[in-house]
This record gives sequence, structure tokens and C-alpha cells, in this order.
Amino acid sequence: MDPNRWSNGMPRRRVLQTLALAGAAAALPRGFAAGSSTRRLGVAIVGLGGYSGELLAPALQLTRHCRLAGLVTGSPHKIPDWQARYGIADANIYSYDEFHRIADDPDIDVVYIATPNHLHKPQALIAANAGKHVWCEKPMAMDAAEGEAMIRACRDNRVQLAIGYRMQHEPNTRRFMAMAQERPFGRIVQLRAEAGWLGWRQGADDAWRLDPARGGGAMYDMGVYCVNAARYSSGLEPVAVRAWDETARREIFPAVDETTRFTLEFADEIVAECVTSFGRNLNTLHIDCERGWYELSPFQAYDGNVGRASDGTRFAAQLGERPRMQAEQMDQDALAILEGRAPRVPGEEGLRDMRVVDAVFASVRNGNARVPL
Ligand code: NAD
Repeated sequence: MDPNRWSNGMPRRRVLQTLALAGAAAALPRGFAAGSSTRRLGVAIVGLGGYSGELLAPALQLTRHCRLAGLVTGSPHKIPDWQARYGIADANIYSYDEFHRIADDPDIDVVYIATPNHLHKPQALIAANAGKHVWCEKPMAMDAAEGEAMIRACRDNRVQLAIGYRMQHEPNTRRFMAMAQERPFGRIVQLRAEAGWLGWRQGADDAWRLDPARGGGAMYDMGVYCVNAARYSSGLEPVAVRAWDETARREIFPAVDETTRFTLEFADEIVAECVTSFGRNLNTLHIDCERGWYELSPFQAYDGNVGRASDGTRFAAQLGERPRMQAEQMDQDALAILEGRAPRVPGEEGLRDMRVVDAVFASVRNGNARVPL
């Protein structure tokens, strides 16, 4: 959830060789003839909640390489409205109990998982075993072991796995990723990533985000934006983590973190200071270098991500209004499937973050101990 809440023409053998080079997560689409890149992939959304209804489904009306073709839901009362809006046939709508039958549905190429976090792994396995490509929301899973199981299942079934890190499709973010290599202000010294959302006032109800068993809490929800941003804007992998968990409003958050602060250590004494919260609106990514600095603020909004640098450079918003970012993400991920190449944000990218998340929780459990990665 965001702070602004609702806020090919290649021969088959060459494709397979390319895929082998690109990484095992990529695969030739099942039942899909290499070369027919004009076809729009059919996407079935799993979970008709806030993100699906407000962003993903509207974005699928803007995409050129994929289209909304099916639903998987446990809420039958939502179906008529979705059908009226998007013209989805009865034959392409599944309950969770019959989800596995999607294997026999030729209209569905991709399953987009947008359910609470504890369901990502089991649902990704059902989709992969049904021979469907998997797009999965962040955080990828509950922990790294689940992420590894998802990657294995997709690899074994020769389907792609892409994680819904929409920021990696946003032009200013992609510019920052390039700057991590180009280093226009010299060596990166320190990073700061802050992602929070004033999520709850007394009495508000959003049950799964308050439930540890379903992947609730700020770290899973918003903390992964900090982890991912620290990694993509440094181009480095952290070597150790230290974390502190603070809950000011225990009456609202009896069981999950309201705020988590964590420090990521990288090689060469580079550190990223991160904070994520359900109690404050936070949305800044700042990079200090030897000879200057640059930042995006906001850096993970649905639109209007803008920034500046110490030399006067401005980073203007580029993608247009929401839900353009989600449309760009899904078109890029669809093209990766259609062209038989690895997606921009494969399962392995989600897994690297899950390893950091595991270490954050381990540090909190162990009295803020330094946890090597
Ligand atoms: P939500 O609570 O609005 O929707 C969740 C949906 O899952 C609901 O339709 C609910 O009925 C369904 N569901 C199925 N089984 C459930 C269960 N056991 N418990 C509770 N709900 C169940 O949540 P959301 O905000 O749409 O988030 C869904 C996923 O999308 C999460 O993984 C979240 O992190 C991610 N998300 C990503 C972004 C982004 O910007 N990339 C933004 C928001 C949410």
C-alpha cells in the first residue's frame, strides 16, 4: 500500500539458449508460438482488493501487450461489478477452491497475485503448476525460503515470475539505477530511504495488515520499498543489517511493527539508513556522494515522483498520472514473456529483498544485533 493510499522472430532453439543465458526464471511461454508478439496476453487477477480494483484493473485498460481476462476471488459479491466494468466472461472466473482449473483456460496466460502476503507463495505455486506465468505483488513472500520455492516452481514449470516492484519501471527511478553505475557525483557515501504511510488512526480496520500470520506490519508493507531502493540506487548488495522496531500505538498495533528503522551496511563503509512506518507519511530517497547529492521525494508514489540534485538538476515527473506506472510495468512484463526474455524484476530480485527482510526481523528479535547477510 502506498502513503497516498487509493490513494520474436527467433527460432525456438535460439530463444531457449537466450533464456538459458538470461537466467532460469525466464521461459518460453507455454503453448505460445515464438514470433507472435502482436498477441495480447490474458491476465487473471487474484484478489479483488484495493490495489487490484483501484490500480491494476484500470491499468490493464491502458496496456497494449496484455489485457484483463480473468478473476480469481473468494468474494462472489464483487463479481457482477467487475464483470459489468470489464466484460469478463463467467468461464474465466474462479473461486480459490477451483483456482487450479485455470490450467485448462486458454484465455489466461498470466496470473497476477494481489492478495495478502501469506498467500503469495501458495498461490504462485498453484499458478505455476497450472502452467501460467506469475506476476506477484511485493513483498514477494513471507520469507526467503518461500521466495526460493516460488522461483523453483516457476523454473520447473517453465513459466516466468515477475515481482510487482512498479518503481523499477518508473523513469526517474531507472535514471537513479543508471546513476549508481555512472556515479556523476563520485563515490556514494550514504543513502537514506524512508517509506511510510499514516495507516491507522484509532478504530480503523484493515485486518490482515495488523496480523503477523498474514504478513502484516510496516516492514513487509512499506519497508521493502526502502530495501529495494537502497539496493537499486547503490547497485550494491548489503552485507549486514541492524534493525529496531518501535510501536507507539500498541492499542492499534498489538502484534505487528508500527515503525521499523534499519541500517543496511554495504562494502566500503557505505550505509543506508532506512525507516518504514504505518504512523508517519514518509517518502524520500536521498543519496549522498563524495561531491554532491541527489534525491527523489516522493520516490514511491503512484505518480508525481520528482527529485533534484545538488548541482541544480531537476528530475521532473515523466510517466503521467496513475495508473500509468502499473500499465508500464505490466506491458514490460508482458513483452518479456512475448519476446522470451527475462523480466526487469524477476523472482530473484524479490528474493534478494526477502533475505534482507529476514535479517531485519532477526535483528529485531535479537536485541538489534548486527546480522550478516
Ligand atoms: P486489500 O486488503 O485491499 O485486498 C486484499 C484482497 O485479498 C481482498 O480482496 C481480500 O478479500 C482478498 N483475500 C483473500 N484471502 C484473504 C485472506 N485470507 N485475508 C484477507 N484478505 C484476503 O489489500 P491490497 O492493498 O490490495 O494488497 C494486496 C497485495 O498487494 C499485498 O501484497 C500488498 O503488499 C500489495 N500492494 C502493492 C502495492 C504496490 O504499489 N505495488 C500497493 C498496494 C498493495
